[in-house]
Amino acid sequence: MPSITLDNFINQSNVENQTKDSNKNKFYWTGHPFVDAGLVAILLIANKNKPEKLTDKDIEKAIEFASKLYAKKEWASYLHGKIFPNNGIIMSNPGMSKRRTPENIAKNLMELYNNISEILELSSKEKRCIICGRRKPYEKDIYRSNFPLLGTGGMLNFFHSANPKGEDICAYCLFLVQFMPLVAYNLPNVLIIHAYPYEKMLELCKESFNYAREHSLVSNARDFKKPENFLFKKIVEITRKVESKSKFWENVSVTLYYFRNGNRSGEQYVDIIHIPTSALRFIAFAGEMDYDGWKNILNMGWLVSKNRREKLSFEELEKSYSNEVYRRLLNEESILEFFYDKKEKKVNAKWRLLEFYCLEVLGLDNQTLEFIKDVGDRIVETIEKLEDNKLRQTVRELEIATKLYQFENFFIRVEKIRQQKGIPKSLLTFDEFARLLTSYGEDINTSWRVVRDLLLFRIYEKLHNRLIKAQFSESEEEEDEIYEGDEE
Ligand SMILES: [Zn+2]
Repeated sequence: MPSITLDNFINQSNVENQTKDSNKNKFYWTGHPFVDAGLVAILLIANKNKPEKLTDKDIEKAIEFASKLYAKKEWASYLHGKIFPNNGIIMSNPGMSKRRTPENIAKNLMELYNNISEILELSSKEKRCIICGRRKPYEKDIYRSNFPLLGTGGMLNFFHSANPKGEDICAYCLFLVQFMPLVAYNLPNVLIIHAYPYEKMLELCKESFNYAREHSLVSNARDFKKPENFLFKKIVEITRKVESKSKFWENVSVTLYYFRNGNRSGEQYVDIIHIPTSALRFIAFAGEMDYDGWKNILNMGWLVSKNRREKLSFEELEKSYSNEVYRRLLNEESILEFFYDKKEKKVNAKWRLLEFYCLEVLGLDNQTLEFIKDVGDRIVETIEKLEDNKLRQTVRELEIATKLYQFENFFIRVEKIRQQKGIPKSLLTFDEFARLLTSYGEDINTSWRVVRDLLLFRIYEKLHNRLIKAQFSESEEEEDEIYEGDEE
């Protein structure tokens, strides 16, 4: 058998993949959020989920769908103001308002579609599109009016080559991006949800498309003002709806592009929010397993004054306010302290949710978690022998421990109580003591703070009723902030 080099192999399969006469209408994902979003829109219109299944008929249908909407006054001013200022293809340019009809827009889009060039051979030395790399750049210069966030002249250019004359983009990518607004969400800025595998993107963009189809209007993401709040809400909703539940989000990557490409200089910006996979899976699991618990956790984290907080429902808070829990999940910081409520001496969620968080997000191993849980139970077994006020005082010592030595003192105190109450075995063996206090030291994932939070969770879970009773006899200082962080 003759040996096959890699080049030979690629060239051969390339030939096989080509359609007989033309590969003009061959559709594929590019990895670019705006171009992929356009492709998602066309797929949703065609009710298909694979680009290679698209036909010329589907494209005609998509052009007709988009042109009808884009010709409407409210769409044109939205497109001109936030996405495509002065765009001549879809005619968002205010100077074109007289000629702006579905027919004229469709004509422009069809012309662009017909101008899509052949896919280049792998061996071709021709200049290639900076986005898909498969076709040669469109002959006409492409500026920010036709492709969001491209610079022109003195305007900010978000593309790496900072080409003052637009950018080398092919007609295929330029064509697709014109459909992107159909799946974008209009919060104060414009949100594109990009996901991989791409099938998940169809699911996440569907709401905007359905809204456009049913109401001929731009979706404002149900009035959500924060893109991450909206996404996390959607993750929970989709999880509860699909058959595979939280498994739906395994090995999924989601990134939010929150941008504006306005008309004036300085009105071009983009926030790129990558959603850590662990956060995505945790939120999905919370939605599936313990939605009430998850809401309790979120309710600890709203960044809003206490007075206003009391007047607003969960749904209202969720739409407008930032949440410390979201912020930490996005930055891969611990949210353990939100699993319990120090003031009310209660836990916010089920142990199962806490367990999932510790194992899957914090990366604790099962053994460690079981060990800490067991130590928690031994502490409970000890301090429950105290009378109410003493019990409360002892727990307070753990609650206010913000330094390692304070945390150590708590264990010494509990050990003494064990001796006083004549409980046979000591709280911890020497090895266990060393393991808890030294090997977990200041490690980010398993610091002693993690252990403290887990112990408090266990204590509140078991002794809530008694702790809350004891609380009545003590005067509590009023705290104005909703959440209290650790003092560093
Ligand atoms: Zn391209």
